[in-house]
Amino acid sequence: MTNRPNPDSPASLGASLVTAARSPGKPYETVNLPVWRASSVLFSNVADMRAEVAATVAGERRAANYATAGTPTTFALSDAVAQLEAGPHAARAALMPSGLSAIAVTLQAFLSPGDHLLMSDSVYGPARVFAEGMLARFGIETTFYDPCLGAGVESLLRPSTRMVYLESPGSYTFEIQDTPAICELARRRGVLTAIDNAWASPVLARPFDWGVDISVLPLTKYWSGHADVLMGAAVVREPLWPRLHQAVRQQGLCVSGDDAWLILRGMRTLEVRMRAHERHALALARWLAGRPEVARVLHPALESHPQHGLWKRDFLGASGLFAFELRDATPAQVDALCDHRSHFKLGFSWGGFESLIMPANIGALRTARPWTGGPLIRLHAGLESPDELIADLEAGFAAMAAARD
Ligand SMILES: *Cc1c(COP(=O)(O)O)cnc(C)c1O
Repeated sequence: MTNRPNPDSPASLGASLVTAARSPGKPYETVNLPVWRASSVLFSNVADMRAEVAATVAGERRAANYATAGTPTTFALSDAVAQLEAGPHAARAALMPSGLSAIAVTLQAFLSPGDHLLMSDSVYGPARVFAEGMLARFGIETTFYDPCLGAGVESLLRPSTRMVYLESPGSYTFEIQDTPAICELARRRGVLTAIDNAWASPVLARPFDWGVDISVLPLTKYWSGHADVLMGAAVVREPLWPRLHQAVRQQGLCVSGDDAWLILRGMRTLEVRMRAHERHALALARWLAGRPEVARVLHPALESHPQHGLWKRDFLGASGLFAFELRDATPAQVDALCDHRSHFKLGFSWGGFESLIMPANIGALRTARPWTGGPLIRLHAGLESPDELIADLEAGFAAMAAARD
């Protein structure tokens, strides 16, 4: 027997440790949902347990026999994502631990050995790597197509083509695709369409109105908006849900309540942030277009952009991400430009409130439409004032000039 200061307190906490503070107390309503953290989901009796298992396997809305299938916090987010991204179209969303995992699971869910995939040449680099590596290993062949082909992709369809995968505007080079035309011909030929809607978010583009079947979203980027959480979503038209649901469920993919809560919190200001990113990026793009060091600015809202007309027809605005091509600059000068900065930070994951700059090295990532221009710099215009950002770039160009030899 150990020596306890109060012999009346029990040696073991026993059931009190298990039952303490389990009752939620006075119900009250707050603006935001609480965070649900869970592994086990509890049932009042065996019949309820069986019913919930059946509903979860069937992918019914908000069914969860285990928290890998969701909690009230993650259900709130997946419902919101489906509603905002697909609008009036009947759709469901699955949450994934990152944008890349949402892309990978989508491709894996709808493609089988022997299938052929058409993928845009300017997709997010890691999506290309997944297609060339993992999908190829499982017997799925990918053809990369020129994102400027439009309805011309029809000539690349084979009897085995199962999906056309788009991203518009394209990563780094910002080509706008004729998505409605591609969706129309794909539907006619019984081929699925999937699009990466990272750049625009549903504030600026409604891919389901264009006719796509699947939209993948890195929630990490604009939805979160604060550079502090990683998450992705795949949104599919209702008839495609069972297939996606099984792919997610069978691999045990899930997200935490804390992370879902952060996206819900960031999402509330998505529209005002997007409009600020748009204004700031346009101010920078117009200023850059007048600089002698710049050969060309790759921003779809500029009239000089080759697919400006398509952008104007299909999009509701432009986001904060674009690129510019330098006229002639040595590698040391490119480094000087990107290293000499105070507001811009050097990094990959755009979509937060901060401004980012980086040299784009896309050489190995293009086959159908190789990059033949000069050095390419990608910018994300954050929420600092455009004047501050322009002063920062001005200093960068001065450092670039000084690094000439
Ligand atoms: C960042 C990004 C992704 C991947 O999102 P993560 O959450 O970082 O994995 C996918 N597509 C595009 C276009 C992106 O820019």
